[in-house]
Amino acid sequence: MARYAYVNGRFVRHADATVHIEDRGYQFADGVYEVVTVLGGAFVDEPGHLARLKRSLGELKIAMPFTEAVLKLVMRRLVRLNGVKDGYLYLQVTRGVAPRDFKFPKAAKPAIVMTTRRQAFKPEIPTENGVSVVTVPDIRWARRDIKSVGLLAQVLAKQAAAEAGAFEAWMVDPDGFVTEGSSSNAWILTADGVLVTRHADNSILHGITGNSIEALAAEQGIKVERRPFTVAEALAAREAFLTSATTFCIPITEIDGKTVANGHPGEVSRTLRRAYYAYGQARQAQPVRWPL
Ligand code: PLP
Repeated sequence: MARYAYVNGRFVRHADATVHIEDRGYQFADGVYEVVTVLGGAFVDEPGHLARLKRSLGELKIAMPFTEAVLKLVMRRLVRLNGVKDGYLYLQVTRGVAPRDFKFPKAAKPAIVMTTRRQAFKPEIPTENGVSVVTVPDIRWARRDIKSVGLLAQVLAKQAAAEAGAFEAWMVDPDGFVTEGSSSNAWILTADGVLVTRHADNSILHGITGNSIEALAAEQGIKVERRPFTVAEALAAREAFLTSATTFCIPITEIDGKTVANGHPGEVSRTLRRAYYAYGQARQAQPVRWPL
């Protein structure tokens, strides 16, 4: 457990960190969040995460609690206070505290909390056999591009995966196409060597890790197609994998108990994971410093 959290302007002991019972995040899930990886003491893909945070807030008409420069200072300060070398920072902004009423309160001030957690990252895949996923219907709302704290559908999906002994749940739309994982983006490598992941519309969260993976794939001359794919297509694929800030890139070798390709992690997933780790490590040239 990290020693400190940041809560509405103060660094407080994690054990003492509390928010008001009428915070709209608590009552209506009226807020958004971000998760930013820390590798070697530096943030990975920070500009992308901050841009998505601004976009999510803008879509919900919640003001940024303070300027981006101050936000970055606070993020760095918390990572330093907690001595996080490898791990991640969780950041949540809600519309604030107000008497319970659905419509936007006139006077609420956005509320912000941040926590950190340590987690080791390796360039090699964490499980030599890859991981399994189960598929579940995607029962979420229509604005999945907003990184909302309303995550109940994902909680149920991840629980279904856990109960089936799987690592992740792939959510499937009514037309039979995979949208994404409960907390990750979904990818396949087709038999003819094309990487496929769903296009970034409102049906998925626009993954920051996935964007970097796409750029790294392009550097290696791998073609990427942004389009939906079915579970059947994934089962016939040469490789499948998932991407997210806390998992980087993990190969998927089983979907609903059926084997993907030969059941072993493929070379492209391994290569992209190594490339993403190296890309993250390159950011250690600009370590987290306080003061900036
Ligand atoms: N899709 C969903 C639903 C997520 O919750 C996440 C991460 O939490 C992702 C995709 C991956 O996004 P990122 O790469 O920015 O972590």
